[in-house]
Amino acid sequence: MTGLVYKSTGSWYTVKTQLGETYDCRIKGKFRIKGIKSTNPIAVGDYVDFELETNNNNVSGVIHKIHDRKNYIVRKSVNLSKQTHIIASNIDQVFLMITINNPPTLTSFIDRFLVTAEAYSVKTVLLFNKIDAYDDETLDEVRYLAHVYRKIGYECIGVSAKSGKNVDKVKALMKDKVSMFSGHSGVGKSTLVNAIEPGLNIKTKEISTLHSQGQHTTTFAEMFDLNFGGQIIDTPGIKGFGVVDMEKEEVGDYFPEIFALKQDCKFNNCLHIKEPKCAVKEALDNDEIAFSRYRSYIQIIEGEEEHYRTDNWEK
Ligand code: GDP
Ligand code: ZN
Repeated sequence: MTGLVYKSTGSWYTVKTQLGETYDCRIKGKFRIKGIKSTNPIAVGDYVDFELETNNNNVSGVIHKIHDRKNYIVRKSVNLSKQTHIIASNIDQVFLMITINNPPTLTSFIDRFLVTAEAYSVKTVLLFNKIDAYDDETLDEVRYLAHVYRKIGYECIGVSAKSGKNVDKVKALMKDKVSMFSGHSGVGKSTLVNAIEPGLNIKTKEISTLHSQGQHTTTFAEMFDLNFGGQIIDTPGIKGFGVVDMEKEEVGDYFPEIFALKQDCKFNNCLHIKEPKCAVKEALDNDEIAFSRYRSYIQIIEGEEEHYRTDNWEK
Protein backbone atom coordinates (compact mmCIF):
# COMPACT_ATOMS: atom_id res chain seq x y z
CA MET A 1 0.00 0.00 0.00
CA THR A 2 1.06 3.52 -0.65
CA GLY A 3 0.19 6.48 1.51
CA LEU A 4 1.05 10.01 2.46
CA VAL A 5 2.58 10.84 5.86
CA TYR A 6 0.37 13.34 7.72
CA LYS A 7 2.01 13.25 11.11
CA SER A 8 5.14 12.00 12.74
CA THR A 9 5.99 11.52 16.37
CA GLY A 10 9.47 10.29 15.67
CA SER A 11 8.61 6.63 16.05
CA TRP A 12 5.03 6.43 14.75
CA TYR A 13 3.71 7.90 11.57
CA THR A 14 0.15 8.65 10.59
CA VAL A 15 -0.23 7.59 6.98
CA LYS A 16 -3.26 8.11 4.78
CA THR A 17 -3.98 6.13 1.64
CA GLN A 18 -5.57 7.51 -1.49
CA LEU A 19 -8.82 5.91 -0.40
CA GLY A 20 -8.72 8.06 2.70
CA GLU A 21 -7.91 5.29 5.16
CA THR A 22 -5.55 6.25 7.93
CA TYR A 23 -3.03 3.89 9.52
CA ASP A 24 -0.50 4.16 12.29
CA CYS A 25 2.78 3.02 10.86
CA ARG A 26 6.28 2.41 12.06
CA ILE A 27 9.52 1.82 10.27
CA LYS A 28 10.85 -1.61 9.59
CA GLY A 29 14.23 -1.89 11.23
CA LYS A 30 16.59 0.94 10.52
CA PHE A 31 16.70 2.37 7.13
CA ARG A 32 18.52 5.36 5.89
CA ILE A 33 17.82 7.59 2.97
CA LYS A 34 20.92 7.83 0.88
CA GLY A 35 22.60 11.19 0.74
CA ILE A 36 20.73 12.71 3.67
CA LYS A 37 22.12 12.64 7.17
CA SER A 38 19.07 13.33 9.24
CA THR A 39 17.68 12.57 12.66
CA ASN A 40 14.38 11.48 11.15
CA PRO A 41 14.23 9.19 8.15
CA ILE A 42 10.62 9.98 7.32
CA ALA A 43 8.88 13.34 7.36
CA VAL A 44 5.44 14.80 6.90
CA GLY A 45 4.76 14.98 3.18
CA ASP A 46 6.59 11.79 2.33
CA TYR A 47 4.97 9.12 0.20
CA VAL A 48 5.68 5.69 1.65
CA ASP A 49 4.94 2.07 0.90
CA PHE A 50 3.81 -0.04 3.82
CA GLU A 51 2.35 -3.41 4.70
CA LEU A 52 -0.33 -4.09 7.24
CA GLU A 53 0.19 -6.34 10.23
CA THR A 54 -2.23 -7.38 12.93
CA ASN A 55 -1.31 -7.63 16.58
CA ASN A 56 -4.00 -8.49 19.14
CA ASN A 57 -6.64 -7.24 16.71
CA ASN A 58 -4.79 -3.97 16.21
CA VAL A 59 -3.99 -3.24 12.62
CA SER A 60 -0.95 -1.12 11.98
CA GLY A 61 1.47 -0.56 9.16
CA VAL A 62 5.12 -1.26 8.60
CA ILE A 63 6.84 1.15 6.26
CA HIS A 64 9.42 -0.44 4.01
CA LYS A 65 9.93 2.16 1.31
CA ILE A 66 10.00 5.89 0.93
CA HIS A 67 9.40 7.44 -2.47
CA ASP A 68 11.83 9.96 -3.92
CA ARG A 69 11.19 13.46 -2.63
CA LYS A 70 10.62 16.35 -4.97
CA ASN A 71 11.92 18.70 -2.27
CA TYR A 72 12.25 18.98 1.50
CA ILE A 73 13.05 21.60 4.07
CA VAL A 74 15.29 21.01 7.04
CA ARG A 75 16.16 22.42 10.39
CA LYS A 76 19.74 22.05 11.43
CA SER A 77 20.75 21.21 14.92
CA VAL A 78 23.93 23.20 15.22
CA ASN A 79 25.03 22.04 18.62
CA LEU A 80 24.46 18.36 18.12
CA SER A 81 26.00 16.17 15.50
CA LYS A 82 25.37 18.59 12.64
CA GLN A 83 22.55 16.35 11.61
CA THR A 84 19.53 17.80 9.95
CA HIS A 85 15.94 17.34 10.91
CA ILE A 86 13.63 17.16 7.95
CA ILE A 87 10.63 19.34 8.71
CA ALA A 88 8.51 18.47 5.69
CA SER A 89 8.79 17.21 2.14
CA ASN A 90 7.04 17.42 -1.23
CA ILE A 91 5.85 20.96 -0.65
CA ASP A 92 4.15 22.51 -3.68
CA GLN A 93 4.30 26.07 -2.43
CA VAL A 94 5.07 28.31 0.50
CA PHE A 95 3.03 31.46 0.97
CA LEU A 96 5.28 34.08 2.44
CA MET A 97 3.08 36.56 4.24
CA ILE A 98 4.37 40.10 4.31
CA THR A 99 3.09 43.22 6.03
CA ILE A 100 4.56 46.67 5.50
CA ASN A 101 3.89 47.63 9.09
CA ASN A 102 2.44 46.06 12.23
CA PRO A 103 4.78 44.22 11.95
CA PRO A 104 7.23 45.47 9.32
CA THR A 105 8.74 42.86 7.01
CA LEU A 106 12.15 43.94 5.75
CA THR A 107 13.24 43.22 2.18
CA SER A 108 16.41 41.63 3.57
CA PHE A 109 14.20 39.11 5.32
CA ILE A 110 12.11 38.47 2.20
CA ASP A 111 15.21 37.96 0.07
CA ARG A 112 16.88 35.64 2.52
CA PHE A 113 13.70 33.63 2.65
CA LEU A 114 13.51 33.44 -1.15
CA VAL A 115 17.13 32.36 -1.45
CA THR A 116 16.52 29.51 0.92
CA ALA A 117 13.31 28.52 -0.82
CA GLU A 118 15.10 28.58 -4.20
CA ALA A 119 17.89 26.44 -2.78
CA TYR A 120 15.30 23.94 -1.58
CA SER A 121 13.35 24.16 -4.86
CA VAL A 122 10.23 25.27 -3.07
CA LYS A 123 7.97 27.63 -4.98
CA THR A 124 7.11 30.80 -3.07
CA VAL A 125 4.09 33.06 -3.51
CA LEU A 126 4.25 36.47 -1.83
CA LEU A 127 1.12 37.59 -0.01
CA PHE A 128 0.97 41.23 0.99
CA ASN A 129 -1.54 41.17 3.80
CA LYS A 130 -3.54 43.83 5.65
CA ILE A 131 -4.13 45.93 2.55
CA ASP A 132 -7.41 47.03 4.17
CA ALA A 133 -5.45 48.91 6.81
CA TYR A 134 -2.89 50.78 4.68
CA ASP A 135 -2.85 54.45 3.69
CA ASP A 136 -2.06 55.48 0.11
CA GLU A 137 1.65 55.79 0.71
CA THR A 138 1.85 52.31 2.20
CA LEU A 139 -0.21 50.90 -0.65
CA ASP A 140 2.31 52.47 -3.04
CA GLU A 141 5.00 50.58 -1.23
CA VAL A 142 3.06 47.34 -1.67
CA ARG A 143 2.70 48.07 -5.38
CA TYR A 144 6.38 48.82 -5.71
CA LEU A 145 7.46 45.64 -3.93
CA ALA A 146 4.97 43.56 -5.92
CA HIS A 147 6.45 45.04 -9.08
CA VAL A 148 10.01 44.21 -7.97
CA TYR A 149 9.17 40.60 -7.16
CA ARG A 150 6.83 39.98 -10.10
CA LYS A 151 9.52 41.15 -12.47
CA ILE A 152 11.80 38.36 -11.28
CA GLY A 153 9.11 35.72 -11.49
CA TYR A 154 7.36 35.59 -8.14
CA GLU A 155 3.60 35.66 -7.98
CA CYS A 156 2.44 38.48 -5.70
CA ILE A 157 -1.05 38.97 -4.32
CA GLY A 158 -2.34 41.80 -2.16
CA VAL A 159 -4.76 40.33 0.35
CA SER A 160 -6.77 41.14 3.40
CA ALA A 161 -7.38 38.23 5.69
CA LYS A 162 -9.71 40.50 7.60
CA SER A 163 -11.96 41.79 4.80
CA GLY A 164 -11.57 38.69 2.66
CA LYS A 165 -10.10 40.59 -0.29
CA ASN A 166 -8.39 38.15 -2.70
CA VAL A 167 -8.70 35.25 -0.30
CA ASP A 168 -10.44 33.39 -3.14
CA LYS A 169 -7.29 33.80 -5.25
CA VAL A 170 -5.15 32.21 -2.55
CA LYS A 171 -7.70 29.43 -2.21
CA ALA A 172 -7.61 28.77 -5.95
CA LEU A 173 -3.82 28.41 -5.80
CA MET A 174 -4.07 26.03 -2.86
CA LYS A 175 -6.60 23.68 -4.43
CA ASP A 176 -5.14 20.18 -4.77
CA LYS A 177 -1.70 21.38 -3.66
CA VAL A 178 0.43 21.00 -0.55
CA SER A 179 0.98 24.45 0.96
CA MET A 180 2.75 26.05 3.88
CA PHE A 181 2.45 29.52 5.36
CA SER A 182 5.43 31.52 6.54
CA GLY A 183 6.16 35.00 7.72
CA HIS A 184 6.75 36.93 10.89
CA SER A 185 4.51 36.50 13.85
CA GLY A 186 1.57 38.90 13.61
CA VAL A 187 1.39 39.21 9.82
CA GLY A 188 -1.94 37.37 9.81
CA LYS A 189 -1.20 33.72 9.00
CA SER A 190 -3.77 32.27 11.40
CA THR A 191 -6.38 34.82 10.37
CA LEU A 192 -5.89 34.01 6.69
CA VAL A 193 -5.94 30.24 7.16
CA ASN A 194 -9.13 30.66 9.13
CA ALA A 195 -10.63 32.76 6.34
CA ILE A 196 -9.62 30.10 3.82
CA GLU A 197 -11.10 27.28 5.81
CA PRO A 198 -12.98 28.15 8.98
CA GLY A 199 -12.49 25.62 11.70
CA LEU A 200 -9.11 24.48 10.51
CA ASN A 201 -7.44 25.65 13.65
CA ILE A 202 -3.83 25.40 12.81
CA LYS A 203 -1.22 26.88 15.05
CA THR A 204 0.96 28.46 12.36
CA LYS A 205 3.78 29.51 14.59
CA GLU A 206 6.21 31.55 12.66
CA ILE A 207 8.60 30.13 10.19
CA SER A 208 10.35 33.39 9.90
CA THR A 209 13.95 33.32 10.80
CA LEU A 210 15.58 31.41 8.07
CA HIS A 211 18.70 30.60 9.89
CA SER A 212 17.45 28.53 12.64
CA GLN A 213 20.50 28.63 14.89
CA GLY A 214 18.22 26.22 16.41
CA GLN A 215 17.06 25.13 19.72
CA HIS A 216 16.30 21.50 19.64
CA THR A 217 12.55 21.28 19.68
CA THR A 218 10.63 18.08 19.73
CA THR A 219 7.57 19.35 17.92
CA PHE A 220 6.78 17.98 14.51
CA ALA A 221 4.99 19.31 11.51
CA GLU A 222 1.53 18.07 10.73
CA MET A 223 -0.49 17.95 7.55
CA PHE A 224 -4.20 18.73 7.31
CA ASP A 225 -6.67 18.15 4.49
CA LEU A 226 -8.49 21.12 3.03
CA ASN A 227 -12.21 20.69 2.36
CA PHE A 228 -11.85 22.06 -1.15
CA GLY A 229 -8.90 19.77 -2.00
CA GLY A 230 -5.27 19.92 -1.10
CA GLN A 231 -3.33 20.00 2.14
CA ILE A 232 -1.73 22.48 4.45
CA ILE A 233 1.35 21.74 6.51
CA ASP A 234 1.43 23.27 9.94
CA THR A 235 4.73 23.65 11.70
CA PRO A 236 4.04 24.44 15.33
CA GLY A 237 7.01 25.47 17.38
CA ILE A 238 9.39 25.34 14.46
CA LYS A 239 11.10 28.68 14.28
CA GLY A 240 12.52 28.40 10.84
CA PHE A 241 14.15 26.30 8.24
CA GLY A 242 17.86 26.35 7.97
CA VAL A 243 19.87 27.76 5.17
CA VAL A 244 21.55 25.07 3.20
CA ASP A 245 25.29 25.34 3.28
CA MET A 246 26.06 27.65 0.42
CA GLU A 247 29.25 28.67 -1.28
CA LYS A 248 29.60 32.37 -2.05
CA GLU A 249 29.65 31.55 -5.75
CA GLU A 250 26.33 29.78 -5.41
CA VAL A 251 24.28 32.56 -3.80
CA GLY A 252 23.72 34.41 -7.08
CA ASP A 253 22.15 31.30 -8.56
CA TYR A 254 19.25 31.73 -6.15
CA PHE A 255 18.59 35.33 -7.19
CA PRO A 256 16.73 34.78 -10.49
CA GLU A 257 17.71 38.18 -11.91
CA ILE A 258 21.39 37.63 -11.09
CA PHE A 259 21.35 34.07 -12.33
CA ALA A 260 19.88 35.26 -15.64
CA LEU A 261 22.81 37.63 -16.19
CA LYS A 262 25.76 35.65 -14.97
CA GLN A 263 26.63 34.33 -18.42
CA ASP A 264 27.20 37.92 -19.51
CA CYS A 265 29.83 38.76 -16.89
CA LYS A 266 33.40 38.81 -18.13
CA PHE A 267 34.59 36.40 -15.46
CA ASN A 268 32.74 33.19 -15.03
CA ASN A 269 33.46 33.19 -11.31
CA CYS A 270 32.23 36.80 -11.00
CA LEU A 271 30.75 37.60 -7.59
CA HIS A 272 29.32 40.86 -8.98
CA ILE A 273 31.05 43.03 -6.43
CA LYS A 274 34.02 44.88 -7.89
CA GLU A 275 34.88 42.83 -10.93
CA PRO A 276 35.21 44.68 -14.25
CA LYS A 277 32.69 44.14 -17.05
CA CYS A 278 30.09 42.76 -14.66
CA ALA A 279 26.67 42.42 -16.25
CA VAL A 280 24.95 42.47 -12.87
CA LYS A 281 26.53 45.77 -11.84
CA GLU A 282 25.64 47.22 -15.22
CA ALA A 283 22.03 46.13 -14.81
CA LEU A 284 22.03 47.67 -11.35
CA ASP A 285 23.31 50.97 -12.74
CA ASN A 286 20.55 50.89 -15.36
CA ASP A 287 17.90 50.23 -12.70
CA GLU A 288 17.12 46.85 -14.20
CA ILE A 289 17.90 45.19 -10.88
CA ALA A 290 16.33 46.54 -7.69
CA PHE A 291 18.87 48.02 -5.34
CA SER A 292 17.25 46.34 -2.33
CA ARG A 293 17.74 42.96 -3.99
CA TYR A 294 21.37 43.65 -4.75
CA ARG A 295 21.92 44.85 -1.19
CA SER A 296 20.41 41.61 0.13
CA TYR A 297 22.66 39.63 -2.17
CA ILE A 298 25.74 41.41 -0.85
CA GLN A 299 24.60 40.95 2.73
CA ILE A 300 24.21 37.24 2.22
CA ILE A 301 27.56 36.68 0.55
CA GLU A 302 29.26 38.82 3.14
CA GLY A 303 27.46 36.84 5.80
CA GLU A 304 26.16 39.88 7.51
CA GLU A 305 24.00 39.36 10.50
CA GLU A 306 20.35 39.96 9.97
CA HIS A 307 18.63 42.46 12.17
CA TYR A 308 15.13 41.26 12.26
CA ARG A 309 13.94 43.83 14.78
CA THR A 310 11.31 41.43 15.88
CA ASP A 311 11.56 42.26 19.59
CA ASN A 312 9.14 45.16 19.42
CA TRP A 313 6.21 43.36 18.03
CA GLU A 314 6.71 39.72 18.87
CA LYS A 315 3.67 38.52 20.79
P1 GDP B 1 -0.02 35.28 12.80
O1 GDP B 1 0.85 35.43 14.00
O2 GDP B 1 0.78 35.47 11.55
O3 GDP B 1 -0.81 34.03 12.79
O4 GDP B 1 -1.04 36.51 12.82
P2 GDP B 1 -2.56 36.55 13.30
O5 GDP B 1 -3.44 35.87 12.33
O6 GDP B 1 -2.64 36.12 14.71
O7 GDP B 1 -2.87 38.11 13.18
C1 GDP B 1 -2.19 39.08 13.96
C2 GDP B 1 -3.07 40.32 14.10
O8 GDP B 1 -3.26 40.93 12.84
C3 GDP B 1 -4.46 40.01 14.64
O9 GDP B 1 -4.83 41.04 15.53
C4 GDP B 1 -5.34 40.02 13.40
O10 GDP B 1 -6.65 40.39 13.69
C5 GDP B 1 -4.63 41.08 12.57
N1 GDP B 1 -4.86 40.86 11.12
C6 GDP B 1 -4.67 39.71 10.44
N2 GDP B 1 -4.98 39.89 9.15
C7 GDP B 1 -5.35 41.17 9.00
C8 GDP B 1 -5.78 41.95 7.88
O11 GDP B 1 -5.89 41.51 6.73
N3 GDP B 1 -6.05 43.26 8.12
C9 GDP B 1 -5.97 43.81 9.37
N4 GDP B 1 -6.27 45.11 9.50
N5 GDP B 1 -5.57 43.10 10.43
C10 GDP B 1 -5.26 41.79 10.25
ZN1 ZN C 1 29.21 39.89 -12.45
